[in-house]
Amino acid sequence: MKQDNTIKHELTNFIDDSLIMKEIAKAENPAPSLVREVLNKGMERNGLTPFEAAVLLKNTDKDLDEAIFETAMSIKEAIYGNRLVLFAPLYITNECGNQCEYCGFAVKNRELKRRTLTSEEIHKEVAVLEDQGHKRLLLVYGEHPKHNADWIAQTVRDVYSVTSGKSGEIRRVNINCAPLDVEGFKKIHEVGIGTYQCFQETYHRPTYEKLHTGGKKTDFLWRLHAMHRAMEAGIDDVGIGALFGLYDSTFEVLALLHHSRQLERDHGVGPHTISFPRLEPALGSDIAFNPPHPTSGHEFKKIVAILRIAVPYTGLILTTRENADFRRELIEVGVSQLSAGSRTYPGAYSDPEYDRPDVQQFCIGDSRSLDEIILSIAGDHGYVPSWCTACYRMGRTGEHFMELAKNGFIQEFCLPNGLLTFKEYLEDYASDETKVAGNALIQREVEAYDDPKRKKILLDRLKRMEAGERDLYI
Ligand code: SAM
Ligand code: SF4
Repeated sequence: MKQDNTIKHELTNFIDDSLIMKEIAKAENPAPSLVREVLNKGMERNGLTPFEAAVLLKNTDKDLDEAIFETAMSIKEAIYGNRLVLFAPLYITNECGNQCEYCGFAVKNRELKRRTLTSEEIHKEVAVLEDQGHKRLLLVYGEHPKHNADWIAQTVRDVYSVTSGKSGEIRRVNINCAPLDVEGFKKIHEVGIGTYQCFQETYHRPTYEKLHTGGKKTDFLWRLHAMHRAMEAGIDDVGIGALFGLYDSTFEVLALLHHSRQLERDHGVGPHTISFPRLEPALGSDIAFNPPHPTSGHEFKKIVAILRIAVPYTGLILTTRENADFRRELIEVGVSQLSAGSRTYPGAYSDPEYDRPDVQQFCIGDSRSLDEIILSIAGDHGYVPSWCTACYRMGRTGEHFMELAKNGFIQEFCLPNGLLTFKEYLEDYASDETKVAGNALIQREVEAYDDPKRKKILLDRLKRMEAGERDLYI
């Protein structure tokens, strides 16, 4: 970003509440013809304006809601196919100096046992995850004054340094930590992070200020400009998000889209991913047990579908927080990345007494193991689990990635690469049942693949995988 822009952005709140309120008011009780018009535009896969998204959010006609889901499904199918990227969160520290009223890690929560993993403990946790078959991790950190960018960078190096078993290595480390300054972001960029993720929680500033009552996170604008600083530091892939339940969900969706557009205007590319956690019960937080703006299941599914239509090429991430059946519905309408086999406190993966409420951030909706989840998504639902990291390792990130994605590239590269990583998983980590179901799925996918040249390359690589080669991609 140019210097003059930097200064301008540090001073402005680019989330214009009154504009969003106007967009919402204008979209109230939309005529069915308008909803259909917006859906037709959505089908062109060029996205929607925030107002158009509001029209879909405000629709109350049941049949048209179904049409929204169908549109989202067909966009998802056309762009992403049946591939689903899997990752696990790895909590590095739950020490935190901030008072976020909804979070179990908040500084005033004296019941929580605090822990920051040492280098050795990180190695232990990562080895457990690698032995399950994980290749992509999301590192999660509380925000504590004693933990600076150098320390975060070291924890990333620690994770990348661990190798375990036959093909155990972490190939992409994404991180979710408090906003840094540009120098700090440069440090974590240099150690090779994939996506930098940080959620605004709520874009409604008065609500934000009410819910963040202590520590650095009280500064709304510092957080709002985190992605601009990250991109200025050279991080191409950023992930934004809002925590649903804190404020009006329509406002938050529109604000996410405005944030996205601002990044596009200032950096030529929007966010790589959007996350939409729903508020979950958390130790020591009244708000987490009684969300001020609860989002129903139907509403939440609509939000996912509308985001899929509004930003078709942006990855949509679903976390641990939703239960297994509901996850499946959300995947169908647009989710492209899923956390699996997750545990939400530091040291949890190597904890023999797992599931202790006195250390975790919030309660988990889906506690199945990675292999069980894979058996269900691949065996029962025909989704191809993918751990692919080829683009990031070949430098196909940010603007470059978006351009390629828009030209059918995802089908050409992501699907075969996803199949190759799935094969690797089946060879090295799967239970017998998952292996049978998974190999049958791979065979079906290869047979259906209609590019003869690529099919030949794919078949050759799958054979090489069976013969013991690893980490093959196109
Ligand atoms: N400390 C960093 C921060 O606040 O940005 C990153 C880690 S924080 C644990 C990651 C995310 O957890 C937050 O951005 C918030 O959206 C989410 N979170 C906090 N409390 C939650 C709750 N009770 N239910 C669901 N998600 C929650
Ligand atoms: Fe700390 Fe992040 Fe939890 Fe807030 S959301 S208390 S900053 S860990």
